[in-house]
Amino acid sequence: MKKYDVIVIGGGPSGLMASIAAAGHGANVLLLDKGNKLGRKLAISGGGRCNVTNRMELQDLIAHIPGNGRFMHSPFSVFNNEDIIAFFEGLGIQLKEEDRGRMFPINDKATTVVETLLQRVKELGVDIRTNTSVKTITYSDDSVKEVVLHNHETIATPAVIVATGGKSVPHTGSTGDGYPWAEKAGHTITELYPTEVPITSNESFIKQKTLQGLSLRDIELTVFNPKGKKIKTHDGDMIFTHFGISGPAALRCSQYVVKALKKFETKTITMEIDLFPSISEEALFQQLLSKAKNEPKKSMKNLLKGFATERFLLFLYDKLSLDTQTPASTVSHDTWRDLVSHCKHFKIEVNGTLSIEKAFVTGGGISIKEIEPKTMHSKKKKGLYFCGEVLDIHGYTGGYNITVAFSTGYTAGKSAAEQVVHK
Ligand SMILES: Cc1cc2nc3c(=O)[nH]c(=O)nc-3n(C[C@H](O)[C@H](O)[C@H](O)COP(=O)(O)OP(=O)(O)OC[C@H]3O[C@@H](n4cnc5c(N)ncnc54)[C@H](O)[C@@H]3O)c2cc1C
Repeated sequence: MKKYDVIVIGGGPSGLMASIAAAGHGANVLLLDKGNKLGRKLAISGGGRCNVTNRMELQDLIAHIPGNGRFMHSPFSVFNNEDIIAFFEGLGIQLKEEDRGRMFPINDKATTVVETLLQRVKELGVDIRTNTSVKTITYSDDSVKEVVLHNHETIATPAVIVATGGKSVPHTGSTGDGYPWAEKAGHTITELYPTEVPITSNESFIKQKTLQGLSLRDIELTVFNPKGKKIKTHDGDMIFTHFGISGPAALRCSQYVVKALKKFETKTITMEIDLFPSISEEALFQQLLSKAKNEPKKSMKNLLKGFATERFLLFLYDKLSLDTQTPASTVSHDTWRDLVSHCKHFKIEVNGTLSIEKAFVTGGGISIKEIEPKTMHSKKKKGLYFCGEVLDIHGYTGGYNITVAFSTGYTAGKSAAEQVVHK
C-alpha cells in the first residue's frame, strides 16, 4: 500500500489549503472526505458567491475574529489575507472588493473557487478519496499512528491534519467528528455554541409576524446586560423574520446574546435598534419640530412620509396609539419626543437563537491553548495538526472564517510537510 507523509481529514477550505501547502512543500498527501464532493460549505458561503477573504488591515482583521482572534497573529505571519488574494490571482481567479473589505471572485461564483482549489490539489499530486469517512485516529504514547476508516481500513502515517470543521449545517459534512479524536489525544474541547446565527424572540409583534420580511438598512443593533449596560453594538442591515431577527447586524450580535443568556441565567435579553445612528436624539427631535413648523397644516402622517420606512412607522403609530391625521402644528413635544425615542431606542426582548446546526459558524472547539500557533501542531501528540473551524476560533461572517480556515490550513500543511519531509 502507498505510504503517505501527511493525511488530511476534511476537504473544506482548511483541508484543501492544508493539502495544497503540504504537497507544495514536498509531502506525499492523502486527502479524505466523507462527502461525495469537496468544499460543500465553501460552495454555499457568502450567499453562493464565496467570500474568499477580507482585505482589511491585519489589526482590523483580527478585531473581526471575536473568538480568539489574537491567536491568528502567528498563522497570519505565515499566510494572511493578502497571501490568499495573491494565491487565487496567481491561479487566474480575479477577485473584487465589496463593502467592508469583502473579497469575492469577479464572476460571483463560489463553484469557480472550489474548482480552482481542486485543480491545484490535483496538479500537486494529492490523492483524493471522497465518500471516505474517518472513524478515528489512533495514537502511540507520544505521536499519531494511524487513521481508521469506517470501513475498518487503517492507514499508517507520521502526520495527520484534522480539518473536519464545526457542527453547523451538518448536511455539508460538518458534524463535529473531529472533537472526540482531539479529546482522545488529550485535548480540551471548549463549550460549543451557535454563532453568526439568527436570533429568536417571543415579542407579540414577532409572533404575530407584524414586521416579518421588513429590512432595516444601516441601523445600529445593541445587546444589553440585565442591568441595562451595553454589551455590544454592531451596525449594518437587519431583517425581521417570523421567529425574530436576522441579517448581518443581528448575526454579529448573536454570540453576545448566547453568552449573556447563559452568564446572567435569564430567560430574555434586551436588544435595541437605533434607526438613525448618525443623528442624536435631540437633533432628530429638532428636525421634526422644524418640519412641523414649516408645514403646520400637514397631517402628522403626511409630514413623516419618507422619515423612516413606512411599514415601521405604521407599526409605531399603532404601538404608540397616535392619531396620525392630527395637523403637525398640534402635535405635542412629548409625542414627537416619544416617536424619536422609539426610533432611536426600539427595544426587543430576545430569548435565544436558532440551533447550532442552523448557525453559520460553530463557536468553541479545540482549545487554542494546546496548539502551537506558528505550526498548528498539537502540544499533546507529535504529528497531529488542526486547522479551520474545528478549533476554538470564530469570526464574523464577511470572509473572516474562511480566512481563518485558509490561514490555519496553509500553516498546518506547510509545517506537517516540513516535519515529515525534512526530518
Ligand atoms: C451558509 C453559510 C455561509 C457562510 N458564509 C460565510 C461567509 O460569508 N464568510 C465567512 O467567513 N464564513 C462563512 N461561513 C463559514 C465558513 O464557510 C466556514 O467557517 C468554513 O467552511 C470552515 O471551513 P473548514 O475547512 O474548517 O470546515 P468545513 O468547510 O466545514 O469542511 C469540513 C469538511 O470535513 C469533512 N469531514 C467531516 N468529518 C469527516 C470525517 N469523519 N471523515 C472525513 N471527512 C470528514 C466534511 O465532509 C467537510 O467537507 C458560512 C457558512 C455557511 C454554512
